[in-house]
Amino acid sequence: MNSFANTLAQLKKAAELIKLNPNIYEILKSPQRILQFSIPVKMDDGKWKVFEGYRVQYNNARGPFKGGIRYHPQADLNEVKALAALMTWKCAVVNVPLGGGKGGIKVDPKLLSSGELERLTRGYVRAIKDFIGPEKDIPAPDVNTNPMIMGWMADEYSQLVGHPVPGVVTGKPLSLGGSQGREAATGQGAFYLLQELAKKLKLNPKKTTLIIQGFGNVGYHFAQLAFKEGYKIIAVADSKGSIYDKRHKGMDPKNIRHTKQSRGLIDGCYCVGTVCDCKNYKRVTTKQLLELPCDILVPAALENQITRANAGKIKAKVVLELANGPVTTEADEKLNKKRITVVPDILANAGGVAVSYFEWLQNLQNSYWSEQEVNKKLAEIMVKSFHEVWQQKEKHNTDLRTAAYAVALSRVTEVMQAKGIG
Ligand code: GLU
Repeated sequence: MNSFANTLAQLKKAAELIKLNPNIYEILKSPQRILQFSIPVKMDDGKWKVFEGYRVQYNNARGPFKGGIRYHPQADLNEVKALAALMTWKCAVVNVPLGGGKGGIKVDPKLLSSGELERLTRGYVRAIKDFIGPEKDIPAPDVNTNPMIMGWMADEYSQLVGHPVPGVVTGKPLSLGGSQGREAATGQGAFYLLQELAKKLKLNPKKTTLIIQGFGNVGYHFAQLAFKEGYKIIAVADSKGSIYDKRHKGMDPKNIRHTKQSRGLIDGCYCVGTVCDCKNYKRVTTKQLLELPCDILVPAALENQITRANAGKIKAKVVLELANGPVTTEADEKLNKKRITVVPDILANAGGVAVSYFEWLQNLQNSYWSEQEVNKKLAEIMVKSFHEVWQQKEKHNTDLRTAAYAVALSRVTEVMQAKGIG
């Protein structure tokens, strides 16, 4: 099943459960606007290359379209549509007044020089300039995009309209109107959720093992906070390799990140307290890593990692989805049958967009908050949303994903009906 079909299957399940108004359901099955375009870029060797770009504006009933832009060789329209739909539900679950959108460029940014990356980024903004803006659509970082790229985007847009518009993009560097706490926000938000979940499931952090697949911005910050709280991180994977602490003592994410930064690999890096190759690590493939016994499995990389093929072999008690769409619909059913608690992406990773919302607010007010203020407000949002979703789960006797969709859909419906739709 492809990514968009997956998202529609989840939507259908929740729509049936809450008896969603059929007219609203009909509208929510399609994006409002799809932009697909070519971006010609002059490469360093003087030749021109053309890259494919996308921006999908899924739904803006609750506010301007909002969502990241990913740079990935496998990015395509189907994936971007799915991710744009997820952003719509995500913003509604955490009740920020924004709609959903997503963008992408089919490119491996690791193969570009910094100059080429900048020209590509500025070309992307020129292609969509009439469709974005603080009141229309506000891009942000996603897979392989970062504050530097967001800074170029904000600058290009500002130059095009002739005055500074920091609120056109979130996830910017602090010097260009970024928010304190935005970089760590997705991991931080997920950590607040984990603490609530631990209370519900009566987990003792010191006796709880964690496996993290994906060690980028999201996976790292989450791992670091969980480690500080005493959780045992027993295995970590990035796109190039993985590491498993077979003694289950727990690994310090800082050491792993240090090795990744200095050697470009995490594989084989870990020895308690130091960073070196040693006899206590075990090399495992990403596939094996997902199937290792643990309490909490955290997919924090790309979509479609847990599928019909491996869902039956997952031994975790909880799957915390920090990636978008890491579990397919068929896999989800299998995990539910096995009574594995799946905390869905639209709740678990919503901390990123919540702090993007704060960043946008700060830009509009031209007044900036401290990191403590940001994190306090983020904690309030995540804790409240968790309990609202949990309540729906109990009410409908369903899984957390369907419960999260139920919360999101009723909020989107309320606004659409107030506008006379449905
Ligand atoms: N790319 C992130 C996500 O998938 C953040 C989006 C945003 O901040 O707008 O939630």
